[in-house]
Order: sequence, then C-alpha cells, then structure tokens
Amino acid sequence: MNVKLHHLTSLESRIVNLYSDGKYAEAIEVAEELLHTAKEKQNTKAMMNAYLNLANCYYYLGEIETAFENILEYKMLCDEYGDDRDKFYLYHLSALIYEYEENYEDAKEATQHCIQLALELEMYYAASTSYNTYSYYLLQEEKYEEALEFALKALRLAVEHCPSEVLLQCHIYFHITSCHIAMNNLSKAEKIINDLEMNQYINNSLHNKAHFLLIKAELYRQKGDFEKALKLLNESYIIYSEHHDGAKIKKVLKAVSEIYELLGDYKKSYQSMKEYLKITEKRSSLRLSAKMRELDIKKSIKAIEKRANVDGLTGVYNRYFLETTCNNWLKEAKEVKKHICCIVVDIDSFKNINDTFGHLLGDEVIKEVGQACLNVANEDKENIIVGRYGGDEFVVIFKDYPSHSIIEKAKQLYNEITSVKVKYLNNEIKVTPSIGVVCTDSLPSAKKFTQLFRVADQALYMAKRQGKNQIVYLSKENCRLY
Ligand code: GH3
Ligand code: MG
Repeated sequence: MNVKLHHLTSLESRIVNLYSDGKYAEAIEVAEELLHTAKEKQNTKAMMNAYLNLANCYYYLGEIETAFENILEYKMLCDEYGDDRDKFYLYHLSALIYEYEENYEDAKEATQHCIQLALELEMYYAASTSYNTYSYYLLQEEKYEEALEFALKALRLAVEHCPSEVLLQCHIYFHITSCHIAMNNLSKAEKIINDLEMNQYINNSLHNKAHFLLIKAELYRQKGDFEKALKLLNESYIIYSEHHDGAKIKKVLKAVSEIYELLGDYKKSYQSMKEYLKITEKRSSLRLSAKMRELDIKKSIKAIEKRANVDGLTGVYNRYFLETTCNNWLKEAKEVKKHICCIVVDIDSFKNINDTFGHLLGDEVIKEVGQACLNVANEDKENIIVGRYGGDEFVVIFKDYPSHSIIEKAKQLYNEITSVKVKYLNNEIKVTPSIGVVCTDSLPSAKKFTQLFRVADQALYMAKRQGKNQIVYLSKENCRLY
C-alpha cells in the first residue's frame, strides 16, 4: 500500500473516532496534522476532509467564527475540486450555521438537500444522520409528531443499512425519547431510557453520557421529580462545560431556569436565564446566517454539479446524468402522455483507430464524435440531451419528438458523424457509426432509462451484425432498416 496515503487515512480514521466520542479538542489537533500533511502532499481531498472536520469540531466547541473560517476554506476547495459527496457536506455545514442561530427554517431546508443527496448517493449512514438532524430541528420547533416520524425514518435506515453503528442508533433513540416525553408518552420514554442505561457506548463516552443525562432529566421533570431532574442537569452541565459545548450548555441552562421557575425559586431561575441569554446574545450577534447566504453555497453546488454531470473527455453529459435525466423525463412523459426516444451511437471498428494511430488520436476522434452529436442536440437543448455511455458509445435522448421525426434526427446524427475529419500527419481520419433507435410508443411499459436503452442497444447490435455503418429503428410491429 502507498505509505503516504496510509498515513493520511490513519489520521482520518483517528479523527472519526475522536469526533464520535465528542473529543473535539483532540480531534482538532489530529485534523490540523492531517491538514498540514495533506498540504505537503498536495492532496486536495484530504485537505477538504481536514477543513470539514475542523469546521464541525470548532462548531461543537462553540468557536463559531473559527468554524466559519474553515467552512470558507472548504467551500473554496469545493468550487474547484468538489464532487457529489462534497455537495452533501456543504449543505451539512450550512445547516450547522443556521442551527447555531436557531434559524430552523433554513437549517431544515439545507438538511432536506442532505437527505436527498445522501439517498441518491446511497450514503445510508449520512442519510440516517440527516433524518435524525431533521428530527432534532422539528423538536426545537415543538413539532413533536413530525419529529418522531423523521427519527423513525432515521432508525429504519440505520437498522437496515448500518446495524453495527450502535452510537448512531443511540443518537436516534435520544430524539425518539425526547419526542415521547414531549408528547407525554412517559412509559415509552422510560422503557427506552432503561434500555439505554447500561449501554456501554453511551457510558464509555462522556459526551454521549451527558446527552443521555439531559434526556433523563427531561423525563424526571415531566414526571414532576424536579430535584432529580436538577441533579441530572447539573451532572450533564459539568461534562458539557469540560467539553466547551456551547449549544448544549445553553440547553441545560434553559431547562434549569424553567425548573427553578416551576419550583417558585425565581432568583435561581433568573440567574440561569441570565447566563443563558448571555450565550444567546453572543451567538446571534455574529449574524452568521446572513454571512452564510452571502457565501452563495448554491453557486458552489452548481460548479460541482456541472463537473459531476459532465464527461471529462468530451464535454457531453456522463452516464449518471443521462440516466437520471432520462428517468425523470420518462416519469413526466407518462403523466402528460408524450414520448421519449433513445438513440444509441457506436463508432464502427474504433479499436482499429486506436491500434493504428494510437490512443491519443483515438481520444480526439471520440471528442469529435461527441461534438457531432452535440451539433444535433444544441438545436433544442431543452428537449435533447447527449451523454457518453462509455468508450466509443454515445446516447442521445429526445423528449416529445414524434417517432417519424426521430428517423430524421437519426439521419442527421449519422451525417454529422460521417462528416467528422481528424487530421493525422498527412492522413484524414474518417469514421462511420452504427445507430440503434427506439421510442416509448413502441415500448409503452418502459419506466426506466435502462429498459429503453436495452432495446436501443439491441437495435445497435443488429446494425453491427448486418454490416455496420447503418441505422436500425426498432418499432413495435417491425424492425426497419434505413
Ligand atoms: P465495433 O464496430 O463492433 O463497435 O468495434 P470497435 O472496435 O469499435 O469495438 P468496441 O466498440 O467494442 O470497442 C471500443 C474500444 O474503444 C475499446 C477500448 O479499447 C476503446 N476505448 C474505450 N474508451 C476509450 C477512450 O476513452 N479513449 C480511447 N482512445 N479508446 C477508448
Ligand atoms: Mg465501436
């Protein structure tokens, strides 16, 4: 294994462990080391990971301005090198900033994006965490039933896809318990608390223990045992103070103040409230939500999307984008009873070009053929997309084109491609394509790109078998050759 890479990876996994234990100060030390090493090795992905972790850790330590500086660094790298996963983390970081100012509307919107992206990317741990975070925001807005619904969604994902992540499940159960307490389902809450009491993952990590104590205090308060609730809150306050977790300290102070008020001890209630307000004032004076908006995360997301959707060699869309867009079009088309057509293009005997003139020239030919396809698509960008399926194979999808005009389009594609000329020394290299065509009017049951593509590819295969350099259109009744 590459030694340098191994060092970076081991730093990264140390950060993960420290972070999940709530040891933020120690995690920062390792993240700084990761950043330093990554800069030395010019490894941008590891640099981004370091900034991401620094932002998260400083956030939980309440050092929001430093967190924000790290978000800025992360965003700048994202603009240039980010991929779909980074898009997820950008939304996650912006949610943190909104959460800090208790701007739950914007925090929820950013988290919705996180959920959607994580599901699309099949990052189930991240999706479960995002559902759970969303549940937390709903809890803060006192929308308990909805909060419970989201926590249960988080739990389902966690159980199904990452059953070994015990801490994740504990965090979800924390929110589920809070919902039950708020809705006065005390026996349900008590049962979960009893189950969690002996959990070694909670007891071995002070930060998680503090969270557990906080929730237990909520239960005792709801049961009217204020003494016990205050004792538990005090225990969690001590731990959170050691960890400098400003957000949680604020929560504890608010709960303490409310209990003293219920007990009629207004002096003590006032003291806690004063401390609570001091933290709140400091937090909202920074107006980071506004700064966050100014950062224009959407612009970064667009830059990432463009990079993530486009094939590096040819500039046409990549297979992922082609597939997702075509799936969306198929869904829409079903609703409005319009048709989608799929044309598959493959360069004939392309291997000969590579073998005769070399791979670089082969690349040039692929680029030019991609451009030829774009010449047809650019006439109607809204309704035609071109993607590279792989190697020397391109796919063009048409929305709302009647099948008779699709033959014209296929011929136009053919003409564009056969007009391609790539110069090599004194040679002029020309190519011919084989083309397969199919439309949804012949395939009314097609719901997904893959179903449509499979038939178009079959038509292409027939064109190849029948001697190449031709178009085959497969319709329901017959198979026509042009
Ligand atoms: P056919 O007429 O049956 O399509 O024959 P072919 O030689 O074109 O065969 P096929 O389409 O199966 O092979 C495509 C070749 O393209 C195989 C691979 O070596 C080459 N190839 C795939 N990707 C690239 C690329 O990005 N650049 C270059 N230069 N060659 C590529
Ligand atoms: Mg080929």
